[in-house]
Amino acid sequence: MTTRCVVAGIDIGGTNTVVGLVDFHGAQISELRFPTQAHERADEFLPRLVNAIREICSGLPPGNPLAGIGIAAPAANSRRGTVENPANLNWGTVNLVEMIQEHLDVPVVVTKDSNAAVVGEMRYGVARGMRNFIMITLGTGLGAAIVVDGELHEGEHRTAGEFGHFTVDPSGRECGCGRRGCAETYVSASGLRRTVFDLLASRTDTGELRTIAFNDLTAERIFRLAQGGDPIARAAFELTGIYLGRMLTNIVAALDPEAIVLYGGLVNAGDLLIGPARRSFEEHVLPLYSGKVKILTSDLNNGRAAVVGAAALVCDLLQNESTHVLQDQITS
Ligand SMILES: [Zn+2]
Repeated sequence: MTTRCVVAGIDIGGTNTVVGLVDFHGAQISELRFPTQAHERADEFLPRLVNAIREICSGLPPGNPLAGIGIAAPAANSRRGTVENPANLNWGTVNLVEMIQEHLDVPVVVTKDSNAAVVGEMRYGVARGMRNFIMITLGTGLGAAIVVDGELHEGEHRTAGEFGHFTVDPSGRECGCGRRGCAETYVSASGLRRTVFDLLASRTDTGELRTIAFNDLTAERIFRLAQGGDPIARAAFELTGIYLGRMLTNIVAALDPEAIVLYGGLVNAGDLLIGPARRSFEEHVLPLYSGKVKILTSDLNNGRAAVVGAAALVCDLLQNESTHVLQDQITS
């Protein structure tokens, strides 16, 4: 296994898919992105993914082909190689590893997006050297992963960390899970949009937001308007941050982490979101934890933590395989 080996790290998000070429040291060499299209079936999405992998690999020098593919996807089962009824994609349950290997003859691993981001953050990001931390992914939805004593804590059914479905208001907004008032319906890109529309209904401020249809309203557009001083957009981020801070106090009381790492598209809003989140956290956290838990933002943002994390997992697989081959050669 030479250090020049290159693998693909892929993050399939509810809005965008990121395909990166990554070397064995976690350095990302190149990247391309395309929209995920939530209404598409997996078999409609697949050709676009395969084309993107082929396109990004066309720049590789001859003699150094792609060594493997690591994929971060929502609701992924790493043992089975499947993606199982993701809430934000119209996929049902599919075996993503088999589907890709029908087109590309390389080792493929698939893992939960939040787990891949944790691996990326632990190896190459702000959580390097930490033993106990929580990673919260604020994208289209709200994902989370828990690291206890340096190991990913997955729970008995490998589904730990569903903080997005903590109930924050039992009579609140309908959630994709079929219940009401889940944190994700407030603290996520889609929750932010819903908050904007609630504020538009309850307040009289005028402005550009009143001219935008719900389907055209993105978190990024709300962010740009908030930066420009729009009072509704700013209030929407403030409320989202307050809900986030309150939610983090409950997580900290359960798990006593060293830090919480915030990751995902919404984190790009910076202090507009993180400021109110930190204030609300310190205001409501149990005094026992006050001033002790760091709230950090990832420096591997825009999908990069999941990309380099998924790439690291396939690198681990390849290195284990090469170690086994070497051991077989030594013992035979
Ligand atoms: Zn829910």
